[in-house]
Amino acid sequence: MKWSSVIGQDTVQEILQRCIVQGRIPQAILLSGNDGFGTMALAIEFARTVNCYQPLIDGPSIAPCGSCQSCTQARTMQHPNISIVSALPTGKLEGADELRKEWIDGLYDLARELALNGYAPTRMENANEIRIVQIRELNRQLSLSMTQRGRRIAIIANAEDMNVSTANAFLKTLEEPHGDTTIIMTTSRRDRLLQTIISRCQVITVPALDESTITDALVSRGNHDRSEAQIAASLSQGDVITAEAFLSDDVRSIRDGAIDLLRTALRGKEMRPALTAAVHEITGTRDRARCIAVCNALLLWLRDAYALVAGGSSARILNVDQQEPLERFASSFAAADFDAAYQALERAVRDIDRFVPPPIVMLTTMMELRTTFLQARTRV
Ligand SMILES: [Zn+2]
Repeated sequence: MKWSSVIGQDTVQEILQRCIVQGRIPQAILLSGNDGFGTMALAIEFARTVNCYQPLIDGPSIAPCGSCQSCTQARTMQHPNISIVSALPTGKLEGADELRKEWIDGLYDLARELALNGYAPTRMENANEIRIVQIRELNRQLSLSMTQRGRRIAIIANAEDMNVSTANAFLKTLEEPHGDTTIIMTTSRRDRLLQTIISRCQVITVPALDESTITDALVSRGNHDRSEAQIAASLSQGDVITAEAFLSDDVRSIRDGAIDLLRTALRGKEMRPALTAAVHEITGTRDRARCIAVCNALLLWLRDAYALVAGGSSARILNVDQQEPLERFASSFAAADFDAAYQALERAVRDIDRFVPPPIVMLTTMMELRTTFLQARTRV
């Protein structure tokens, strides 16, 4: 049985469901992976299932009924047993010892959005720090006796948002036994968590989604055109939130920008200033995800071109609207070392991911592609 609000992640669902069915629920769980892989969606569905009064059980799998009192409360995040702790905006630190009303309201709105859609933003606008006052409040809540049957689930969104002193205060929370309570942390930056915190959790890695799962989800959730959804999925690095952002951002504009960049790189000797300007335009936003998307878009486009070079049918082409330009490119550069081009682009994605400055990576990569393709043309 699959949790209806979670996209894919069958293995992780099985692990979580089995521990509920078998009554062996850990005190602390760390879901490690991007929000767009489904960490928050999984945490929320876990909380619902654990608290449901009439869960649907089928062998080792379990799902919430969706209609009992507990499920109804959970749907609007008005459940006394379920809470989400998420970062607060930085700024003035005065009065940081108490939770301001605007923060409490903001966190409540955030939680309600997440209850409706586990792939909604997990941070308030400008929020980047979980404050120690939030951990104190959590401790206070956990020390109260429960008012409703079930299990208390406290979800800490983006646990890496704790600074060292907050993390140390939180460590005490983890060390203290709380009956019928599970703390679930989500993080996309496990490397930033204290080892002492990680070692107290059952760590579950939530992997990137595969492209077809994302494509299906985009089509069914957003009523998107399948070929656009497919391109967005391929650009998203397995992250459905990123894929959705690309769709609303118009994936074709990213792809067309990528093709223009390649064209500029393949121009005559005087292309350098134009290429630098084009690279700057893409990297100027300092948006690493966008630069990665541009590289991946180019990778997909070149794979399509190679499919034509190799004599494949045009039915296998992903960029269906690009058939003519692809055919022209394929006939001009049939002798090129496409593998070398793929490798250059894959390396670029890895480098940007590892925080090498995108302008350097993009410029170097485009120069590499220039060499690869222009060499081939002289050989023809
Ligand atoms: Zn229920």
